[in-house]
Amino acid sequence: MASVFTELKTPVTGAYQQPTGLFINNEFVEGVDKKTFEVINPTTEEVICSVHEATEKDVDVAVAAARKAFEGPWKQVTPGQRAGYMFKLAELVEKNLEVLAAVESLDNGKSITLAKGDVGAVAACIRYYAGWADKIEGSTVDIAPDMFHYIKKEPIGVCGQIIPWNFPLLMLAWKIGPALATGNTIVMKTAEQTPLSALVLAQLVKEAGFPPGVLNIISGFGKTAGAALSAHMDVDKIAFTGSTVVGRAIMKAAAASNLKKVTLELGGKSPNIVFNDADIEQAISWVNFGIYYNHGQCCCAGTRIYVQEDIYDKFVEAFKKRATANKVGDPFHHETFQGPQVSQLQYDRIMGYIQSGKEDGATVEVGGERHGDKGYFIQPTIFSNVTSDMKIMKEEIFGPVCAIAKFSTEEEAIKLGNETMYGLAAALHTNDVNRAIRVSNALRAGTVWVNCYNMLHHQLPFGGYKASGIGRELGREALNNYLETKSVAIRLGGALF
Ligand code: NAP
Ligand code: MG
Repeated sequence: MASVFTELKTPVTGAYQQPTGLFINNEFVEGVDKKTFEVINPTTEEVICSVHEATEKDVDVAVAAARKAFEGPWKQVTPGQRAGYMFKLAELVEKNLEVLAAVESLDNGKSITLAKGDVGAVAACIRYYAGWADKIEGSTVDIAPDMFHYIKKEPIGVCGQIIPWNFPLLMLAWKIGPALATGNTIVMKTAEQTPLSALVLAQLVKEAGFPPGVLNIISGFGKTAGAALSAHMDVDKIAFTGSTVVGRAIMKAAAASNLKKVTLELGGKSPNIVFNDADIEQAISWVNFGIYYNHGQCCCAGTRIYVQEDIYDKFVEAFKKRATANKVGDPFHHETFQGPQVSQLQYDRIMGYIQSGKEDGATVEVGGERHGDKGYFIQPTIFSNVTSDMKIMKEEIFGPVCAIAKFSTEEEAIKLGNETMYGLAAALHTNDVNRAIRVSNALRAGTVWVNCYNMLHHQLPFGGYKASGIGRELGREALNNYLETKSVAIRLGGALF
């Protein structure tokens, strides 16, 4: 029998045991068809290891495990006990922060400093939702003297969750937090590019004492395992983060199967607007962070930068200096801000967008080329003189590439900001409080940042207007994605007729 663990090394942890199996019923197992696939290190382009691949048959096995746990042991657990398991998991995540962050850097290519921040946010998110577990309440409604009505909140059941590769652990936490707190069971499919950190975390799920089958984590491909999960007749809800194209496919699969509940967190092309009354130095810092954080691989990345015309030249010059100073390189170097893109495919896609910007006549202010000669590194890139009809201004690039354009009036800034099919996030920089509120109100986006960027928090709902998604993650609002509402009417009197 093939092994479901392998010894790996990271510069931070030294040697450690990496699980490679499918995590079903609290055990690591091989897939039914015994398939495996290779996991690539984006920094070196070398194979890290192979992991077991879930096919449709394994999705059936995992869903059956989640169903059994939902109908059995998980139903017997009190909300207070649920909270206890989740608090324990948060504590174990913190205790294992170094190894989780190192595996994230190894597999995804993000800098170790950012990865540690991610893992801290994972623990905080799970802890936040643990606090909700015993605070899910229904209500009573007085309708008639001979009736008793109450409204009860219940878990939906078995939840399929499909996550992307840009924040492998954090996307997992955003999804399992509200689902577990409300008493559901889960089959989670990680992204094919980054399966490793979730498997390390799976060990902690068992250690925290969760009953077998409550949280199952499978590695596999979207077209097979992901599609099977979204079309499954015994999955009650599907939650997805990723591209808009796949989001549509998941909604269709849900509609064509059992009409499972769907929440989607999709792409974006977020505007970042700099007014002439902003603190320019600070604005540049936030604009830089808004686009280059996580190598531009953020659904909410501030990719369309609109600068008021009278400060435009000054802004572009200073922003060029700032972007060029970002340290690109080895994710395990503590000063690194930007590591490699996640995969050859993403690298090629981004270089294709850079090529299209050049061909369309936009000006490359900085970057525009590969960085180094090994790994999927791309220079931080700024395009200026970008018009609204260019592909680089319209489509999600998901890399360290931004487009700058000028505006003259506030009205024009709002119009440009909303000139997109997306509506995930937006930002503006101004020292005028009236303008800050006016423009925030006018921007059609699920999150608006004023004089900052990427300030996400587990207490605040996050999600998209328009084609950026359906529903909200995080905050109290995310709990509703995982709850059914039941109205119970009890007749106290005799027969009506
Ligand atoms: P993707 O295909 O949407 O991948 C996201 C997740 O969905 C992965 O787990 C993926 O599995 C799975 N998936 C793919 N096809 C599926 C299907 N037919 N049914 C069910 N699940 C499916 O994204 P990508 O191809 O990795 O990246 C493409 C673009 O998507 C990026 O350039 C970026 O624009 C956008 N994106 C957005 C986010 C976000 O946070 N909103 C995150 C990642 C990517 P596999 O890993 O096997 O593909
Ligand atoms: Mg894909």
